Order: sequence, then structure tokens, then C-alpha cells
Amino acid sequence: MKRKIIVGNWKMNPTTLEEASHIFKKVKNMAQKLNYTHVIICPPFPYISKFVSSKAKISVGIGAQDAFSEESGSFTGEVSPAMLRDLGVSHVIVGHSERRSAGESDEVVAKKVQSVLEAGIHPIVCVGEKERDSHGLYLDALKVQIKNSLAKVPKKLASQVIIAYEPVWAIDAKEPMEPSVIEEMTIFIRKVLADIFGQENALKTTVLYGGSINFRNAPDIITRGKVDGLLVGRESVNIPGFIELLKAVDVV
Ligand code: PEP
Repeated sequence: MKRKIIVGNWKMNPTTLEEASHIFKKVKNMAQKLNYTHVIICPPFPYISKFVSSKAKISVGIGAQDAFSEESGSFTGEVSPAMLRDLGVSHVIVGHSERRSAGESDEVVAKKVQSVLEAGIHPIVCVGEKERDSHGLYLDALKVQIKNSLAKVPKKLASQVIIAYEPVWAIDAKEPMEPSVIEEMTIFIRKVLADIFGQENALKTTVLYGGSINFRNAPDIITRGKVDGLLVGRESVNIPGFIELLKAVDVV
């Protein structure tokens, strides 16, 4: 059975370290029992150093929700990939739609992806159309977004990159995208990746789906959507739901 990747994007939750530690402990205990699933938790920055103990890292990878494109310097409020690597962070989400809607361009995303890779960390690059039209123009827009966001990735590092396909309209929504449509989109994304990296390298890039995942729909999306794993938002801080999700995904 292929190993799946489940990324929990906690966003700006929860508001106390006590609650964050409680959620993390439950996830870690569950993750230790999984055979075919790698769990990566992306908490808010202030909690990261509390979670990256060497013991925890055996079962749960720790990711950040963003990083700046420079290593150090006069950039008030920013956090660099080098700092995150020093803490033991293995993954960084880059270009989440909530950041893109706050003004982050493909060019900024591309620079961040480059500096995350240079720090030896896996970028989880979020891409996805804002809306769909009946002429298929959203496919062109998605292709451009992927190509621009990965513009600074050397072909040989294709295997280090994780793409999270997150149609913006399916994030924070009631329902995820239909699994059969996710499969079509996965094929499309792999074709774009083959254009960028070449066929062989493109097959080494991990492709996740994200958008309104819960424990009920997760197994179907993995099996019928033919993705390598999931990026989970709200459900990742809902302890019972996320534990059920991990159990269910591990056996498909
Ligand atoms: C996200 O924000 O990346 C996400 C997938 O959110 P949700 O699961 O809550 O739709």
C-alpha cells in the first residue's frame, strides 16, 4: 500500500498553547499507530518550537504555514526558512489562497518556494482556481499559476516539491470537489508538471488535494481522486474528526 501524506493546516488556531499541546498530543498518539500515512502538522509559528522534539518528529512532521524569501536581515515581522530549518521544521506551506487573496503574487510565491528549497525544506505549494467557467479558461489560469509559482525550482528538485491543489471555492465550503473531477484535475496538474520538469521528474512530485475534507469524505477522495494525500484545514483542529480521518485514510 502506498504511503499517504496528510497535512493539517491549523491556520490561526487554537488561541492557547495549552489547547494546541492537547490537540498535538492526541494527533501524535494516533500517528504512531499508522502504517501507511505520514502526518505533517502546520501550527501557528509560536507553537512550532514546542512541537519539534526529536521524539515527536518520528511520527509527526512539523510544518510552517508560511516563510519569507530571504535568509535574514531587516524584514520586520518575517520568519526565514533557515530559522525554521534550524528548529527542525520539515515542510512549509507556500502561497495558500488566504495569503494570495491578501496580495501574495505568483512571483513572491516563486521566490519563497526557492528559498524554502534552498533551506532543505519541502515547500507545499498551494494552487487552485478561484472559480470555474464553462469555457475551461480556469485551466489556463491554473497552468499559468503553477508554472509561475514553480519558476525557480530546478528540475532535479521536483521530488522535493509538494503541490496542494486547492480550488479556492472548495476551501471553507460545505462540500469538497467531486472525486472524479479531482482525478481529472490531478491528471491535468501532472501534465503541467511534466511540461516544467520533464515526464520522469514530474512523476516524483507529490500532489495533494485540499478543500473541505472531513473524516467522511477523505478515503473516497484519496482512492477515487487519485491524489497522494490531503491538505486539511478546519478538520485538522477538530480532534475526534481528525483522528477518525487518520484512521480511515491509513487503510485505503
Ligand atoms: C485550507 O485552508 O487549506 C483548507 C483546505 O481548508 P478547509 O479544509 O477548512 O476547507
